[in-house]
Amino acid sequence: MIFVWGRKAVYSPAGYVADFCPVCRAARAFSVQRIGMAWHVYYITLSKGELAGYQRTCCDCGMALPMEAGHYSRLSVEQLPLAQLEQATNPHLSLRHADALAAAARLREAPLLLDESERRRQLDAALRLQADALDEYEATTRLDKEVWWSIGAAFAFCAAVLTVLRQQAPQNMDTGFIIAFFLSLGAVAWQLSQMGERFLQRSILPKLARSLAPLQPSQTELDEAFQRMGEQERKLAKRIDSARVQQAIAALRG
Ligand SMILES: [Zn+2]
Repeated sequence: MIFVWGRKAVYSPAGYVADFCPVCRAARAFSVQRIGMAWHVYYITLSKGELAGYQRTCCDCGMALPMEAGHYSRLSVEQLPLAQLEQATNPHLSLRHADALAAAARLREAPLLLDESERRRQLDAALRLQADALDEYEATTRLDKEVWWSIGAAFAFCAAVLTVLRQQAPQNMDTGFIIAFFLSLGAVAWQLSQMGERFLQRSILPKLARSLAPLQPSQTELDEAFQRMGEQERKLAKRIDSARVQQAIAALRG
């Protein structure tokens, strides 16, 4: 019997703040999650764990970013309208992010008139953000819902096979159960192997598309950006390519 235990991050809701979202390229409301490290047995935890930090998640695009709770005047209990939330939690937002807000405004007005180096900087920044998100995702052991379903289905399947064999062919119970067990194990392993790709499809590509769409990057610009990212040996450069990014941007428009 394998006994699975250790410590894992537990995310619990802690309120709302207003801040700049680099994916939406605008001021946004963020939900705040308290991150605690708690002991788990089979990934089940009983407490919120010891405080390890906070993260903020954009209420619009879902981008999760690390945050310093001390940067805000307070956390709001409810998601107020943006202007009120800004006043209550981050009154210096427009001052603090003046450069980013100005760059976003220039981008909105005339994306193709930005000079080459600024376009390159914005492209690299958008890619870097998602490359960091992928690294962060791969560093944690969080199972997605498909994996949990396959584990549940595997247990149910093995139990059903056992019950049927016990009634119909008790002499074949051992062989039958071993076959069912390895089939189930295979199904779970397959779902596990697909988890990274699902994360790319559901989280990374849509956010990348959203932050890059206003730039309207050309194929060459994207290829060059991917090449720079590859030179820095970022995992994201190996997992997706410029064609998939263009596809995601097109999907956003459609
Ligand atoms: Zn956002």
